[in-house]
Amino acid sequence: MPAIHPSVYQIVGGKEGEDLPSFSSIGGYTIIYYSKEEDPYCGECASQHQEEHNPILHAGTYDEGPDLFCTECGKTIMASYGDRAKNNG
Ligand SMILES: [Zn+2]
Repeated sequence: MPAIHPSVYQIVGGKEGEDLPSFSSIGGYTIIYYSKEEDPYCGECASQHQEEHNPILHAGTYDEGPDLFCTECGKTIMASYGDRAKNNG
């Protein structure tokens, strides 16, 4: 039983027991997941997350900002629109 708060499924429109999406169904925006300790996770790892003391608590689209790295697998999580601050510089 993965340690995922039920509200996370509501946010992303998924069901308990199903894998969490890495991209939104509409628009294909990047979805990022955060644990209680605010560590970022990719959809795959969030789906399998087992740390009861540090459950997945938040989810949302990641529209803009620097590349992040999944705490579990180290995969790059890129913002949908990239890092504008960097592009402008
Ligand atoms: Zn991952």
